[in-house]
Amino acid sequence: MANHLYDALFRRHETSGRPFLILKDGEVVTQAEFTAMAARFAGALTAAGLRPGDRLALQLDKSPVMLAAIAGAIRAGVVFLPLNTAYTPTELSYFVKDAGARILLCDGRAEVQLSPIAQDCGAALSVLNADGSGSFADAASAAVSTSIAERGPDDLAALLYTSGTTGRSKGAMMSHANLLSNAEVLARHWRFTERDVLLHALPVFHTHGLFVATNVALVAGCPMIFLPKFDADEVIRRMPEATAIMGVPTFYTRLLDDPRLTRNLVANMRLFISGSAPLLAETHRQWEARTGHRILERYGMTETNMNTSNPYDGERRAGTVGRPLPGVELKICDAEGRELPQGEIGTIEVRGPNVFKGYWNMPEKTAEELRPDGFFITGDLGFVDADGYVTIVGRGKDLIISGGFNVYPKEVELALDALPGVLESAVIGVPHPDFGEGVVAVIIPGATRPDPDAIRAALSQTLARFKQPKHIVLRDALPRNTMGKVQKNVLREELKGVFAV
Ligand code: ATP
Ligand code: MG
Repeated sequence: MANHLYDALFRRHETSGRPFLILKDGEVVTQAEFTAMAARFAGALTAAGLRPGDRLALQLDKSPVMLAAIAGAIRAGVVFLPLNTAYTPTELSYFVKDAGARILLCDGRAEVQLSPIAQDCGAALSVLNADGSGSFADAASAAVSTSIAERGPDDLAALLYTSGTTGRSKGAMMSHANLLSNAEVLARHWRFTERDVLLHALPVFHTHGLFVATNVALVAGCPMIFLPKFDADEVIRRMPEATAIMGVPTFYTRLLDDPRLTRNLVANMRLFISGSAPLLAETHRQWEARTGHRILERYGMTETNMNTSNPYDGERRAGTVGRPLPGVELKICDAEGRELPQGEIGTIEVRGPNVFKGYWNMPEKTAEELRPDGFFITGDLGFVDADGYVTIVGRGKDLIISGGFNVYPKEVELALDALPGVLESAVIGVPHPDFGEGVVAVIIPGATRPDPDAIRAALSQTLARFKQPKHIVLRDALPRNTMGKVQKNVLREELKGVFAV
């Protein structure tokens, strides 16, 4: 029987004694051990009455058993939804209910708290601890090995909820083909082979750590140094064993703070990838100066996996997210979906085998964002340069319209970040009595504290008047979610009254 994703990602590893997961304490899980664990979990799911297409919700700490539960779901044809470990029980109940999950897998620590929630959602609660114990693991050891569920390319593999940066999280329906096609393209594009060792310090409830990092490693057949979370000290210690790392921009800025980061430390490394949020030009520059490597920046999202990447060979252009990946069509459009001339800023639309099947339980939202011809309206604003490199200037929802003029926050942020004393910045629009929206800059100072008047004076030389911040706030840090994304809606809410409308 064929199972599109299982066959490509796992089947050939079933008899392989090669390492798949290298854990924090040095313990190794081989590819065969991992697939055997997945087979037992698949058996437990089937024994619990889950059939192909049924949903399994998981809120589990990152561990080999968590990953094996997901692989088991793929094997059993069960649609899985990995949920952010930071979600509170109330938040969790929304997802479990929305997805109509029949089982909620949680850590033993959360069992008592989640029990009423599971009951309310009509889901059975099952425990799977990171050490491999718990009721789900017991059921798995009792379950007889089952056959592999038949699943075709268009069958649903996962419901992946978006990060909720711009509003309520939406469940993106990902098919077997969506996930496999992207993993194969990325493994090839970034030249992953069996000889690689991928340093994995990302969460696995998000597309980045799960469908990019883990699936690329499975396609390539290479092991991962599988760390429970990002800890700069541990990442620095393990770097000499690795050949590649995938990270979010904050990984790189934290690693730069460590004096042990030298060319010598990364002698074995061939690739540093960044995504999920924009990488500052300054981080690019410092990283290259310290390590001799240029970080490769790429762009993707929950709904589409990866859309673009800077080249492996060839110029990695700072400030851009590279070119569309093979198989991905990308165009810049106006609000009506008409393609704009090269160089103009508009909404990024993408089409390809990577694009999801729509939002779960949200047919109107799906119809609004997924065009009948297959193009997905990403909601990100950007432009393409003469060489085909894509630059993201921000999200459509973050676009500021001040006095009738469009202000792209990224342009103002770049101008601010270039000034002495500015470590980073976030530019937002908040209600203004005269202009509709007024530009507000939130600045994180560097070693020396910048003077707002000096900033205003400097910006008046580089930016048109309507783009210049009318209000400047100094802060210690920007609010970020677990993927390192700046939460501009939080800033907008906090600062909505500064112009006293
Ligand atoms: P929600 O859709 O729920 O508001 P979200 O869009 O943050 O949340 P994700 O799918 O995790 O959820 O994030 C995708 C978004 O992250 C993209 O649409 C884009 O705005 C941003 N992004 C990803 N990679 C990059 C990058 N390299 N540079 C700039 N932005 C990026
Ligand atoms: Mg989004």
